[in-house]
Amino acid sequence: MDSEVKTVLVIDDDSAFRQAVAEWLRLRGWRVLEASDGENGFQITLKERPEVVLCDLLMPRGNGFKYCRQVRENRLRMPLTKVVVTTGSGYMADRLEAEESGADGYLVKPVDMESLHVLLNSLANGLGTGDQRTDKVGSIPPGVSLKFWGVRGSVPVPGPSTVEFGGNTSCVEVRADGQLIILDAGTGIRPLGNALEKEFPGQSLDFTILITHTHWDHIQGFPFFLPAYFPSNTVRIVGFEGARRGLERTLLSQMESPYFPISMREMPGNIAIRELADLDFHIGPVRVRAEFLNHPGICTGYRLFTSAGSISYLPDVELFRRFRENVGAGQPDIAYAAEKDERLREFIAGSEILIFDGQYDVEEYRSHVGWGHSCYEDVVELAMQAGVKRLFIFHHDPVHDDAWVRSMVDRCREMVRVAGSPLIVEAAREGLTVELSVAGTPVRLEVADVSV
Ligand SMILES: [Zn+2]
Ligand SMILES: [Zn+2]
Repeated sequence: MDSEVKTVLVIDDDSAFRQAVAEWLRLRGWRVLEASDGENGFQITLKERPEVVLCDLLMPRGNGFKYCRQVRENRLRMPLTKVVVTTGSGYMADRLEAEESGADGYLVKPVDMESLHVLLNSLANGLGTGDQRTDKVGSIPPGVSLKFWGVRGSVPVPGPSTVEFGGNTSCVEVRADGQLIILDAGTGIRPLGNALEKEFPGQSLDFTILITHTHWDHIQGFPFFLPAYFPSNTVRIVGFEGARRGLERTLLSQMESPYFPISMREMPGNIAIRELADLDFHIGPVRVRAEFLNHPGICTGYRLFTSAGSISYLPDVELFRRFRENVGAGQPDIAYAAEKDERLREFIAGSEILIFDGQYDVEEYRSHVGWGHSCYEDVVELAMQAGVKRLFIFHHDPVHDDAWVRSMVDRCREMVRVAGSPLIVEAAREGLTVELSVAGTPVRLEVADVSV
């Protein structure tokens, strides 16, 4: 702060808070004015033109949003006045609304006095809020790993019967060769976002979200993805055009006002949506191949070629042959379907890791023909034929509790044992981390706590 005395106006209907802040700032050389509501505060602002205003959000006679708008509308009369909103609630929607209304800063109570002093000095001297996020870039260490954040299909099912395998919908984090790649944005992306903010505090992040398709269980977590709310982050969302409309329009529409309080365009992160044209592309040094899958609408699977082997992700797919057999098709149709399954086998052949839709068993499948999902018995068969090293059955049905999933894994392993195959089968489990090692060393599994 320079030698000239600066003025701060504290507008708050909580007199104890107001007086404590006023006294603390006076002791540090500020000239402090006080008001107990927005209207009175605005009159004082017009008359005194303080350098900085601390304004509460919820007050009688003029709330903080209204006060910010009034200051903005009268900007010519007080060009240097900066407004910091203080509030007891930490709602992201309120923070964005305050910024929209013209606030220069936002503090959640209880306010740390030292930080407040730094912020006020910075604003009073025309230096902005002092946000240092953009100076530090979060970098992904070398190596290849993946982590399951959501493994459920259709709808989230939290509760005591799903604690072991998890209740969140599709989301897998892949860290490969310096890239952070997120496969789908089901509700699992919410705890992932919180964990990233915790791991890279105050740092800029740059990553890609690969969307297989826009069914709700693959996109519904995105509005709650914390890194998309920081302007220093770059979020690339990549996928194919849908059956009825483009990827961007579908993603925007799930955040329209009847459904969500903040539109996607209001999210402060740098969000770029890219519609894919080719089935072969790169994310940094990671080559990616896509394949269209048998699933209602437009749905793709992805194969990521990393330096430690490839990871294939096909969360929603109904194997052709069983589908055609069950809809009573004739022999030529079944031959065609077998060819399509063969193409899929080639797509995943030799994958280090295969994450594949195994929502039903053969019995359940009979009443779900044409729903777009496979039965795990066929998936184990396919993975063995394709020479996959490790299979994770994915997209667990919402009605399958932990005991059901455990017994499914037992049945899969029995199939593998009988066939004498080296395939390793697991059920995808929320919080499970898989490290892919260089050739020759075994894949290591780690269970990590996902609660953040
Ligand atoms: Zn799905
Ligand atoms: Zn789907």
